[in-house]
Amino acid sequence: MSQRVTDLLATMSLTEKIGQMTQLDISTICTDEIQEKFWDVEEIILDEEKLITYLRDFQIGSFLNGKAISSDDWIQLVKRIQELSVTHQLHNIPIIYGIDHVHGTNYVQEGTVFPHNINIGATFDPTHVENAAKITLAESLGLGHLWNFAPILDVAQQPLWPRFHETFGEDPYLCSEMGKAYIEALQEKAEDHAIKIAACAKHFLAYSEPKTGFDRSPTEIGMQRLREFYLPPFKAAVEGGVRTFMINSGEINGVPVHASRELLTDVLRGELGFDGVVVTDWQDVIRLHRGHKVAATMKEAVYMSIDAGIDMSMVPLDTEFCTLLKELVEEGHISMERIDESVERILILKEELGLFSQPYPSEVVPTAEAKATFKSTNYQSAVDSLVLIKNQDDVLPLSADQKILVCGPNANLKNRICGGWTWRWIGTDDFMYPDSMLTVLEGLQQEFGADNILSGDRTDMQTLAEETDVILFVAGEEAYSEGFGDILDLNLPEEQLEWLDEAIATGKPVVLVLLEGRPRTFPNQADLCSAILWAGLPGLEGAPAIAAVLSGKENPSGKLPFTYPYKQSHTIPNNHKISVFSDAQPFPDGDERWRYSIADFGDGLSYTSFEYAALELSTKTISGVEELTAKVTITNTGDRKGKESILWFISDEYGQISRPVKALKWFEKVELAPGESISCEFDILPQVHLSYPDKDGTEILETGTFLISVGGLEERFSYE
Ligand code: BGC
Repeated sequence: MSQRVTDLLATMSLTEKIGQMTQLDISTICTDEIQEKFWDVEEIILDEEKLITYLRDFQIGSFLNGKAISSDDWIQLVKRIQELSVTHQLHNIPIIYGIDHVHGTNYVQEGTVFPHNINIGATFDPTHVENAAKITLAESLGLGHLWNFAPILDVAQQPLWPRFHETFGEDPYLCSEMGKAYIEALQEKAEDHAIKIAACAKHFLAYSEPKTGFDRSPTEIGMQRLREFYLPPFKAAVEGGVRTFMINSGEINGVPVHASRELLTDVLRGELGFDGVVVTDWQDVIRLHRGHKVAATMKEAVYMSIDAGIDMSMVPLDTEFCTLLKELVEEGHISMERIDESVERILILKEELGLFSQPYPSEVVPTAEAKATFKSTNYQSAVDSLVLIKNQDDVLPLSADQKILVCGPNANLKNRICGGWTWRWIGTDDFMYPDSMLTVLEGLQQEFGADNILSGDRTDMQTLAEETDVILFVAGEEAYSEGFGDILDLNLPEEQLEWLDEAIATGKPVVLVLLEGRPRTFPNQADLCSAILWAGLPGLEGAPAIAAVLSGKENPSGKLPFTYPYKQSHTIPNNHKISVFSDAQPFPDGDERWRYSIADFGDGLSYTSFEYAALELSTKTISGVEELTAKVTITNTGDRKGKESILWFISDEYGQISRPVKALKWFEKVELAPGESISCEFDILPQVHLSYPDKDGTEILETGTFLISVGGLEERFSYE
C-alpha cells in the first residue's frame, strides 16, 4: 500500500469511504430529459447540479455506462465529471469511469467494432483478441474510459442463453486462453501514457449455465463440475493480472452469487488469490431483496453482499446503498476494518491506473493513419472467424460468372452483423451505423459487381430465382442483449424457415449464411442447403469478409468454438461425459436417431486441404513430473494457401470422477502454402494437462492411460 492510500484511509470519513464503494449510472447525472429516455436520444448532457449533489453529499467514487457519442464528446464529458469530482470530493479523489467496450470501442461513435467474442473464439488465434484489446485501449484510454467491463469469461454450454455470443465458446481452455490474452493486452501500459486501463473478468461464476436458458436465471450445478468447467477462465484471469471482477447476477444451487461468502471470499480471494476490486453487476444488491428474495429488507441485502465480499456496488440508480451501509457500520453490524479492506482495494486501483496524478482524459486519440490499420486488422479478424460448415459439391467459392440471388431477413441490415452492445446496449437500428459500413448484400455487390447480384424479398423470390444460378440466404437473429434475447425455441423463427423452404424448393443451390449470436437450429433444412457458412456476429467489417470468403478471395479458416446442435432437444458439448452415449453403443454410422449436431466443436472447412501425419510421442510412459512431447506433421495438400487451427485433445480413459470424453488442452494456428509442411509440438505436463479438480478444488492426478488426439490421429500413453 502506498503512503497516499495509507494516509487517505486514515483520514477519510465513513461517508467518503462508502462513496468510494458506490457506482452510479451516467443517466443519474444527466438532465431530466436525457435521464428519462437515455437510450432513445443520441446525446449525453450532464446536469452539473445533480452531479455536485452526488459528489458533495455522498462522495460517489465511480460512474458507468454510455452509448456511442463522439470521442470529443466523451473527452469533454469525462473531463467535466473529473473536474467536479476533484473539487467536491473532500480528499480530491478522482472517480473511475466504467464502460462496456465488449467488442472493440462499441460505445464510441467512430469506434472500431470488432466481431463479438464468439467469433474471436472461432479464430482459435489469440492474436485477434490481443488486437481487439490493443485497439480498444488505443481508442478509449484518451477518453478517460479507464475501466472496461470485459472480457466475458463465461463458458457457454447452454445455447439458449442470450449472452452466448459474448463468450469465447463452450470450452474452458479456449475461454481461458482468449480471456488471458485479452487481459494482458488491455492492461498493458500504452506507450507514452502514464495512465492505464483495468479489465474486468465477468461474470463470476457459472452465469452461463442457467437451466431455463433465460438470462440471470438459476444455475444448478455440482461443485466438481463448477470447478472443472467454469472456474478455469477466472483462474487464468487472475494469473493474467486482471485488476477487477464482476459478479454473476444469478444464483447457484440456491445461493445468489452476490450473497455467497464461499464463492466471493473463500474461492475468489482464498483459492484464486485475487486481491483486486470486486464490483457487483447492475442492481444486484437490490436483486437480493427484490429478485432472489433471500434478504427480507434492502438493508439485509446490503449486509449480505458486503459480508460475502463485494467491494463496490453498481447500485446504480440511487443512493440507498450509501445510506444503508452507513447505518450498518454505525450500528456495529459491519466493521470499519471491513470497509477499509474494500476502500483500500479501490484506492489502490485508482492509483495503479494513474488517476491521482492524471485525473483528466489524456485526450490522445488515434490518427487517421492508425484508424486505417485498425480497420484492416478488424477485417482480418472477421475473415478468420467465419466457419464454413458445409460445402457440398464445392458449391463455394462462387464464381464471377454466376448470377446470385441474395435474400433472407439479414441480407440487407447492418445491425444484424454487429448484434447487441453496438452503439447502444441492446443494439440499434441502422441509422447509427457509419455510412461506410456495408450490409451483406452491399458487400456482395461490391465483390461480384452489382450486375451479378439480384435481390428481393420473399414475394419476389420465385421469379428472381429463375434468373439466377445460386441463392444466398442470409438468416439468423436480430440484435439483442441480455434478457431482451431470451427465447423459448432454439429453432430459427418459423417465418425464416418457411422462407428458406421456399428458397430450397426453387431447386437452385442454396448457400445459407448465418448471422446469429447463438446456434439457432434448422433440422429440416440442414441437409437441403448446399453450403452453410456460420458468420456469427462478425463486426463492422463482417460484410466484406463474408463476401471475400464466398468469392474465394479469402480462404475460410474458422472452426466452431461450440457444438452446433442439429435438433434443439439435444445440445451436447464436445467435452460431454464419457458415458453419454455408452449404453447406446455401437451406433450404426449415419443413424439419424443419434445425430445431435450439424457440426462439432472444432469443425470448419477450408478451400484447401490439410493432412495430419506422423503423430509421435517422445515416450509412452511418464511418471512424477516428467514431461512428454507429442509431435505431428501437418501438410497443406491442396492448391491454395490456407490457415489451420491445430487442436490437441486428451482423454483420460478412467477416472474416479467420470471424465469428459475428451478435453481441449492446446491449440495453435498455422498458415501453410500449397505443399508446405510444418511440424507442431505439444508438451504435456502431468500436473497441468492430466489432472482435474475434485469438488473441493484439490487436484486429482491419477495413474492410468490417456489418449491424445489431433487432426483425426491418436496415440496412447500412460502415467505411472
Ligand atoms: C451486464 C454487465 C454489464 C453491466 C454494466 C449488466 O446488465 O450484465 O455485463 O457490464 O450491465 O453495463
